[in-house]
Amino acid sequence: MEKNALQTDIQFLPGVGPKRAQLLKKELNVSTVGDLIKIYPFRYIDRSRIIPISAAASDMAYIQIKARVKEIHLFGSNGSIDIQDVKFNTVKRMSVLVQDDSGYLELVFFKGIKWMYSKLKPGDEYIFFGKPAIFNGHMNMVHPEADPATGHPGQAGNMNSTMTGVYPSTEKLRNGGITGKVMNKLMENALNMALPDIKETLPQYLMIEKGLVPIHFAIRNIHFPKDLQALEKAKYRLKFEELFFLQLSLLKQRYIRSRNENGIRMPKVGEAFNICYNSLPFELTGAQKRVITEIRDDMKSGHQMNRLLQGDVGSGKTMVAVLSALIATGNGYQACIMAPTEVLAQQHFKNISRYLQKTGVRPALLTGSSKTAERRDIHAGLEDGSIGIIVGTHALFEDNVIFKNLGLAIIDEQHRFGVEQRAKLWRKSSCGAPPHVLVMTATPIPRTLAMTLYGDLDVSVIDELPPGRKPIQTIAATESRRPAMFRFLKEQIALGRQVFIVYPLIFESEKMDYKNLENGYEQVVTAFPFPPYKTAIVHGQQSNDEKKFNMDAFAAGRANILVATSVIEVGVDVPNASVMVIESAERFGLSQLHQLRGRVGRGSEKSYCILMTGNKLSKESRHRIELMCATENGFELAEEDMKMRGPGSLDGTQQSGLPIDLNIASLAKDGLILNDARQCAQSVLDRDPVLSLPENRMLAEEVLRDKYQVRDYSQIS
Ligand code: ADP
Ligand code: MG
Repeated sequence: MEKNALQTDIQFLPGVGPKRAQLLKKELNVSTVGDLIKIYPFRYIDRSRIIPISAAASDMAYIQIKARVKEIHLFGSNGSIDIQDVKFNTVKRMSVLVQDDSGYLELVFFKGIKWMYSKLKPGDEYIFFGKPAIFNGHMNMVHPEADPATGHPGQAGNMNSTMTGVYPSTEKLRNGGITGKVMNKLMENALNMALPDIKETLPQYLMIEKGLVPIHFAIRNIHFPKDLQALEKAKYRLKFEELFFLQLSLLKQRYIRSRNENGIRMPKVGEAFNICYNSLPFELTGAQKRVITEIRDDMKSGHQMNRLLQGDVGSGKTMVAVLSALIATGNGYQACIMAPTEVLAQQHFKNISRYLQKTGVRPALLTGSSKTAERRDIHAGLEDGSIGIIVGTHALFEDNVIFKNLGLAIIDEQHRFGVEQRAKLWRKSSCGAPPHVLVMTATPIPRTLAMTLYGDLDVSVIDELPPGRKPIQTIAATESRRPAMFRFLKEQIALGRQVFIVYPLIFESEKMDYKNLENGYEQVVTAFPFPPYKTAIVHGQQSNDEKKFNMDAFAAGRANILVATSVIEVGVDVPNASVMVIESAERFGLSQLHQLRGRVGRGSEKSYCILMTGNKLSKESRHRIELMCATENGFELAEEDMKMRGPGSLDGTQQSGLPIDLNIASLAKDGLILNDARQCAQSVLDRDPVLSLPENRMLAEEVLRDKYQVRDYSQIS
């Protein structure tokens, strides 16, 4: 690739050097000039306005005043210091009194005193820029920036801008001398050096059609807006561009896949499918039937299936997975079902084995705790094809796992798997063709968003719960209600039901979380002594055997109560459990609360979800808890969650693992631009499906960039 200024190592940008370069790399992940330019301000300060001192108020953000220096005082640890014989290393504080026509203001400095002292001359006028605050009942300003008023353009900041961008910053950056002002200066240097090397990414005809400004205008004005209007135009162009290329890349992949005939053709449903189907203890719901038909159609089409199956917790996705896997085995292929945790894999295996009993298909379970001999057996069975369906965890990714002919990969709760891991799995089959892919998730996401997030996946939705489910009553309670809550649990247990008690586990404070869990467990055991009560506990610090032992005790009904962390129990199915208690519920996101609640209400008994919260809740937490009490509809909750938190946090306290990393556009807030960009991308591809026309050459190049390449789930290399 031809060398251009954008690739210049950041340390060679004027004003940086090796020490600051290290800081920029560590704090902002900036290693080149091009990286720096991609950091956009998250807000702007209007530099054209100068405020009279009398109008300054402590609730204002950053302001500018134009004032004359009246007096300067220096203080050491023992009080005032005579300026005549000052040694600056003993100075602790500098106070500068300034005045304009409307009044006086005190400026205070604790750091950089020597430098600022040399800059300020009593009697001269300066522009001061800082945040007003109240200290001891008086207005002051701590560490303002100062520029001489003479020769100061009064309004123009860098590059003729009237607005100054505020960039993401950290304590370490500021301590390392990269203040807001320095950042602006660096950005100015970066643009001077590299802006000409930034290439236009959109063809002229598109810019005209959509009224978009050229890239150079956009980049210059996102950093140094000429005025508000220019800023808006710049933002619009950059957001549109980002979303447009995202959509273009997805739609193009989809087009290529639709023409690709290398999918494994599976024309039959096979005998095992029918045996299993006919021996089900229940009728499939209409939605389950519809989804299975969609999957069948995909698998016999000759195209590779790449489908996202969305269904609320308890909607019966496992059944769909089993029947899909049986289509694969019915056509002489193998299927694998990947679960995110060991507990879930075990549970899947147990359920699936039950369904397979009369079918003659051999299932197997492979996890991190499978014994060596067992493992060897399974490896052999996968390689010679005698194992038809394998259920497993990450252990399936290990190098010595090789399939004879993997025809279908089912991934449960896909957000826990990385793209590279998936690609690795696809390469494990020796039959040459890529397996069909079915990704199952309980996170209910609006359909258009799902298409954006999950790339070129087709989407199936199970929008109907199995019949006979009773609504779950959701109640919020604070600590003072705990005795009443425990009494209620005892009543339920006396009726023969079981209870979940879940504690949050949030990684930043793991230690504290486990402490809370331990304390909680002790409290429960004290309130529910053995005998007659039995309490099991499951958490991430236990060995797999310990976890399994406790889970089994609860699943088999030997324990009345299961105390657990949120991470462990995702997806467990214990129909006799009728109460879900969520401790510190305010610390969970809506989607996660909803998923936890879905663990009950699976049997025929009336079920309850009790949200225990602290007394003082933030506005947002209160809103979440109220919503949970008001609705059981997962889609409604997901939409609210997205509005409140942005799409990046759909998975609550867990890292979301969204496959998209947007720089400026927001999927939650820029829905209109997203739709427009999608339509525009579609119409470009309608005319030029593989972007081969000369006027689209730049689009073809841009689409290949890494940023837009991360979400091809069907990818085989
Ligand atoms: P999901 O994985 O979607 O959360 P599961 O597949 O675990 O849901 O199903 C939840 C429960 O509903 C299981 O106990 C399952 O046996 C049961 N179930 C699934 N489909 C039906 C159906 N059509 N009618 C009745 N019960 C069903
Ligand atoms: Mg499930």
